[in-house]
Amino acid sequence: MSNVVILADFVGGVASKSTVEIATAGAGIGEVTALVLAPVGQGAQYANSITQGPIAKIIVVESNDFALHGVAAVADVVSQVINEIKPGVVLFVSHAFGKEVAGRVAMKTGSGIITDAVDISPDGTTTQLVFGGSTTVHSKVTSELSIITVRPNTIAANFVEVNPTQEVKSFEVSPSAKKATTTSSLPPVKGGRPELTEANIVVSGGRGTNGDFSVVEAFADSLGAAVGASRAATDAGWYPHSHQVGQTGKTVSPALYVACGISGAIQHRAGMQTSKLIAVINKDPEAPLFELADFGVVGDLFTVLAGATEGIQARKA
Ligand SMILES: Cc1cc2nc3c(=O)[nH]c(=O)nc-3n(C[C@H](O)[C@H](O)[C@H](O)COP(=O)(O)OP(=O)(O)OC[C@H]3O[C@@H](n4cnc5c(N)ncnc54)[C@H](O)[C@@H]3O)c2cc1C
Repeated sequence: MSNVVILADFVGGVASKSTVEIATAGAGIGEVTALVLAPVGQGAQYANSITQGPIAKIIVVESNDFALHGVAAVADVVSQVINEIKPGVVLFVSHAFGKEVAGRVAMKTGSGIITDAVDISPDGTTTQLVFGGSTTVHSKVTSELSIITVRPNTIAANFVEVNPTQEVKSFEVSPSAKKATTTSSLPPVKGGRPELTEANIVVSGGRGTNGDFSVVEAFADSLGAAVGASRAATDAGWYPHSHQVGQTGKTVSPALYVACGISGAIQHRAGMQTSKLIAVINKDPEAPLFELADFGVVGDLFTVLAGATEGIQARKA
């Protein structure tokens, strides 16, 4: 049994579902301590938002340098915490921020790192899906400390109710981690839809929408789903880049992924093929994404989505 530290993940100051997922992954290895890095004066609020997941203890560190100096400051303090409490495993959420912090922490602590794990066994052996999900790899860090990032939505989260002990610690961000400063930042424009990487259902549109995402959005809303897009759609300016799914976009693993007017290029598959169920709507029966589909509809996406949305709304009524 190794002691496990997770870097708790927050959305708008509230612990995310991904925090519960990495806690669940960690609990299979050993006792889990959640590290909460928060702005000054908000540590208790952040920590108190952790009410679920197999977490035994919370360590809170407050500093405004986390927002001001970003990943460098976060990696610096995470490394200092590791040096003090010496866990065997440290887990991060596998989004861009988590992976960059993990890489820096691995460098600072001289540890091995594995990114994008979709499972971790009790002995620390990880499972990764590579080459667009076509190959399964099992690997294990051989250094004393293992740094692992875990893909969102791949671990069945244990939402057990908890009330972990909290300890506030003080660490100064090193001057070397303050060499880049955020001069301004704008919060993302939030719609009523769930976060793409955390959603249980994702409905994505591609070039087949011809720039009209209204049917994709209406269908997504009928299911309470997030909206994604192929790079063809984001490059054309039809949908924001922040919604791009794929190799150079976001990786999603929802319970259901519905691809509308997307052909299935390898770069798109790389971001969605670990989805539990894949439904494809395409007017071309030869579209490569049908090879991955659990359900497929050959047809015009505008007609199919309009009918499906109407059907779902009728069932809800
Ligand atoms: C380095 C690199 C990185 C990349 N990263 C990404 C990435 O992260 N994500 C990504 O998505 N792509 C990425 N791409 C681009 C990728 O190669 C494809 O070009 C892109 O995914 C194609 O998008 P698409 O499927 O929407 O468009 P297309 O390939 O043009 O397919 C459109 C599909 O819509 C169907 N269609 C048309 N009209 C309708 C209709 N009315 N009803 C139903 N179906 C219809 C067509 O039959 C067709 O199958 C990357 C490429 C490179 C080189």
